[in-house]
Amino acid sequence: MLTAAGSGTRLGREIPKAFVPVGGVPMIALAARGLADSGAVDAVVVTSPPGRAADMVAALGALPIPVEVVDGGSTRQASVAAGLRRADASTDVVLVHDAARPLAPPALVARVVAAVRSGHPAVVPGLPVTDTIKRVAPDAGAPAPPGDDTTPVVERVVDTLDRTVLRAVQTPQGFDRELLQRAHAEGAARAAAEHLAATDDAGLVEALGVPVHLVRGDSAALKITTPYDLAVAELLLEGR
Ligand code: C5P
Repeated sequence: MLTAAGSGTRLGREIPKAFVPVGGVPMIALAARGLADSGAVDAVVVTSPPGRAADMVAALGALPIPVEVVDGGSTRQASVAAGLRRADASTDVVLVHDAARPLAPPALVARVVAAVRSGHPAVVPGLPVTDTIKRVAPDAGAPAPPGDDTTPVVERVVDTLDRTVLRAVQTPQGFDRELLQRAHAEGAARAAAEHLAATDDAGLVEALGVPVHLVRGDSAALKITTPYDLAVAELLLEGR
């Protein structure tokens, strides 16, 4: 499944992020090709911004595997749940991949699928973190607003994490289909009660108490959120 229902406001474009081109090709088309080229994916379900299904089909272009477009929800978690409703008993393994990571290499996709098929029901790709990570005092859960050099936003540091055991997690994440559907069913109830949706699918599986395993990620699977990320992706694509 490809999640592509986000607006991408942080990219500062008028169009939904999945339609923004990298190297002249819409992100959603690049991401779908990466899945198809892995040889490990039989079909793709794409979650679209509601009402934009026809535009999504056009942006996807021709692909060597069947593609279905469904309306996404108001959060990423709701969008994945909508896409999962299209998976039936004939599907044993489901991948969830963000269109916002259009350069995830086919080898990474194949590695995640191979790990699931070798007996790990929930697998995420991840990379060691290179920055030292500090936890700050929560400010009502809000991320720091952008300050400037003369009036900087100042936050209190609470502690410093041991980075040797930290991994920055990417997509595609791979799951036993039944397990992921169960995790989303439980997660939907929790999200409604707590008004807080999950930002990744493995987190919902962890909440069930089922072990999640990690395989080596790939720096090319970077997530495009800001204009800076888009510029980096353009350079990476030029070098391919
Ligand atoms: O917002 P964020 O960058 O975390 O979104 C990650 C992925 O989830 C993107 O590919 C985005 O299109 C998708 N998404 C979605 N439905 C939403 C919000 C985000 O499919 N309601």
